[in-house]
Amino acid sequence: MAAPITTISDSKERQGLNLIAAHSHIRGLGVTPDTLTPKPIADGLVGQQQARKAASVILQMVKEGKIAGRAVLISGPPSTGKTAIAIGMSKGLGDDVPFTMLASSEIFSLEMSKTEALEQAFRKSIGVRIREESEVIEGEVVEIQIDRSVTGNNKTGKLTIKTTDMETLYDMGTKMIDSMTKEKVMAGDIISIDKASGRITKLGRSYARSRDYDAMGPDTRYVQCPDGELQVRRETVHTVSLHEIDVINSRTQGFLALFSGDTGEIRSEVRNQINTKVAEWREEGKAEIVPGVLFIDEVHMLDIECFSFINRALEDELAPIVIMASNRGSATIRGTSYRSPHGLPLDFLDRVVIISTHPYTHDEIREIINIRAQEEEIDISADALALLTKIGAETGLRYASNLITTSHLLAKKRAGRGVDVASRPIEVDDVQRSFQLFYDPARSVKFVQEFEKRFIG
Ligand code: ATP
Repeated sequence: MAAPITTISDSKERQGLNLIAAHSHIRGLGVTPDTLTPKPIADGLVGQQQARKAASVILQMVKEGKIAGRAVLISGPPSTGKTAIAIGMSKGLGDDVPFTMLASSEIFSLEMSKTEALEQAFRKSIGVRIREESEVIEGEVVEIQIDRSVTGNNKTGKLTIKTTDMETLYDMGTKMIDSMTKEKVMAGDIISIDKASGRITKLGRSYARSRDYDAMGPDTRYVQCPDGELQVRRETVHTVSLHEIDVINSRTQGFLALFSGDTGEIRSEVRNQINTKVAEWREEGKAEIVPGVLFIDEVHMLDIECFSFINRALEDELAPIVIMASNRGSATIRGTSYRSPHGLPLDFLDRVVIISTHPYTHDEIREIINIRAQEEEIDISADALALLTKIGAETGLRYASNLITTSHLLAKKRAGRGVDVASRPIEVDDVQRSFQLFYDPARSVKFVQEFEKRFIG
């Protein structure tokens, strides 16, 4: 099999480029780590404390690997931070835990079937942490005489260390003698050596214990002693998604498709082979599964076939946690004539945990707009901020947030030549003009409807 060439953190960065610009101010869920209590304003998030608390409990479970194969629905009116909270969760996940964002409308593409698009999204959300052990460093053999009790079984009092890096090793070897006599290291034991303190910890025996490797972390040097011989090895760990392994091993696509994103459909034989291979790696202790998060926005846009696919996929042994968002109350399930809460089929809804978000207070809206302006490095006068807050309360946060950018452009234009443009704050005037130039959805609909009445009706 070809070696994987991207890692989960790479692909998270690629995704982030186009999908989360509006949420770039969000750095986490803003909760205190011990009690998971949300602070009123933290990590770029404001208010919505109950939902943030619930999200952080789920995040904790994801981190502990307890919640794979479950589904969570974040429901609430438009612009109440459903996506923002999901992004906050993604920031709290480890670098190698995959987080995939999918807008439901994305799956209705001409290039592949809906279920293939979903399958790919699921497999992007499952990481495979692969351990690779570099070869034993060849070099001169140094013999270090150590205490008899070290080797156990009273076999021999001599252990051999192989490496080219003599100085470090000699150092390690001497320290090892000390702790070994205490720890009774035996042939086959795995030991980790803390480079900073030189402390040696006995981790366990033989390869298969992944827990031990976790304790060591990536790049830890360790020493293994098969039959009384010590060898220094270096271990590297990288995490790739199942989807990436699929693409790399799919003959028709090839790994370059990972960069273009144009992966097309992947044959099910390829996926089956990969599943078998990954299962083997797991057996051998070379890999472990890292269930990640799949976030599906506007979930009411999915149809009945998609829901049955997701229902089935969640039963799979290799399932991520699925977090969905919807701003619909009761809606028709696409592909049927039935209405149901949030447009989800009832049997699916049954297995879903629901977190709800609520409309913001005036103060919270002001804080969020303020944070957005800071994020874009734009100054706003107090009056302009008050006006944007009023607009945000009446028309929604997203529109108000867009007005920050357009007002800033107008402010810059107004400043004209010879004025220090960068230091010019947005004034009420700029916001008003921006408001007149760019419509929010409600005004736009009203305008078109009035037109229709006059000319068509
Ligand atoms: P929709 O139902 O329309 O998809 P949503 O509930 O997903 O809306 P978001 O997209 O998360 O809403 O919010 C709109 C904008 O407001 C985004 O830029 C988001 O980052 C910001 N925002 C929303 N809630 C908060 C919050 N509590 N703290 C900081 N920023 C927020």
